[in-house]
Amino acid sequence: MKKDVPICHHCNQSGGIKKYGITQSGHQRYFCRLCKRTFQTGYFYKGREQYIAAQIERLLSNSFTPEQISAEIQVDLDTVEQHIKILISKR
Ligand SMILES: [Zn+2]
Repeated sequence: MKKDVPICHHCNQSGGIKKYGITQSGHQRYFCRLCKRTFQTGYFYKGREQYIAAQIERLLSNSFTPEQISAEIQVDLDTVEQHIKILISKR
């Protein structure tokens, strides 16, 4: 099992995870064979997500609104708002 396989968001197991396409917002989607549900890695996925988080933090510190950030970095508004919540909770 590779290290970057995520844990199922529904049953917290990693043993039955397989890739299941990409969502419209660009997230990797996974299917869990144990509980037969799909989930996406979302904002806590490393790599592109970390880059997005850094961009959002930078724009936020430049007084961009979530809508402006969404347009600027081509990420949907829900994702931007999720990141902002996390950034705020870290402070
Ligand atoms: Zn599961």
